[in-house]
Amino acid sequence: MIRRILLSLALLAPLPVQAENLANKLFGAMEAPSGQDPMPIGSYARGCAAGLMELPESGPSWQAMRLSRDRNYGQPVMIQYLLDLSAFAQKLGWAGLYIGDISQPRGGPMTSGHASHQIGLDADIWMLPPKRLNLTAKEREDISSIPVRSADQLSVTGNWTKNHQRLLKAAASDPRVDRIFVAASVKIEMCKTAKAADTKWLQKIRPVAGHDTHFHVRLKCPKGAKLCQTQAPTVAELSKDGNGCDDTLMWWVTDYLNPPKATKKPKKPQPAEEREKTPREFTMADLPQQCAGVLSAE
Ligand SMILES: [Zn+2]
Repeated sequence: MIRRILLSLALLAPLPVQAENLANKLFGAMEAPSGQDPMPIGSYARGCAAGLMELPESGPSWQAMRLSRDRNYGQPVMIQYLLDLSAFAQKLGWAGLYIGDISQPRGGPMTSGHASHQIGLDADIWMLPPKRLNLTAKEREDISSIPVRSADQLSVTGNWTKNHQRLLKAAASDPRVDRIFVAASVKIEMCKTAKAADTKWLQKIRPVAGHDTHFHVRLKCPKGAKLCQTQAPTVAELSKDGNGCDDTLMWWVTDYLNPPKATKKPKKPQPAEEREKTPREFTMADLPQQCAGVLSAE
């Protein structure tokens, strides 16, 4: 009798997900891109990627950093964008660009770090201006980028230069770009120094916490990429079709840093089954169904 009760209880309870069945473990174990046609599948923070290309570890105008992470894979449009932007960096007098994480070989949720970077259309670019492009694999693990945001988050540091401004303007003005994430103080500085007649491109520069040593480029869904989910709201909507140099930006250096005292009691933390899952909790059932095919493809 007791066994029957235990058995029926076991059938009622949801099956615990084995760690090795989590989507980030499955995608994190993939060593090469799928041999499929390129396709971003799903959204930047809930998806996967077919047919990614590897950014060569070194090239005439770039080096990929932290090679041990194996995250130097992107959609072909992203790889081309990085080649183009790094060539522009050389025109500024930099040796090129140091490129941080793009995506895993088949995209998908990651075992550590980012919530996004899942569909091959996000890339982190270091704020450290490269002086040389012959770093060894070990140096690429050991060297750190530089902070361009002050510790109190209110301003940029002496590491911020006119060339950073020029690079970010070029990066954002590219029609392939959907938005670029930077520390709020970086955008505030760019708002101050941009010429008044020409600031529309600034709407693509978006303030986000973190991002003090790198900027994060997010490309639009490529034309015809039917499985790629466009991000909403758009940057035009977020900035009411302006440049975003407004109160919503200043919030990052006022209320965000010194929140007004809460009048309501803080909510109890929600149990896992009631709140939205984080990407590290995703199972394959949380991803678009095509992602199973990306995992199993040759
Ligand atoms: Zn990023």
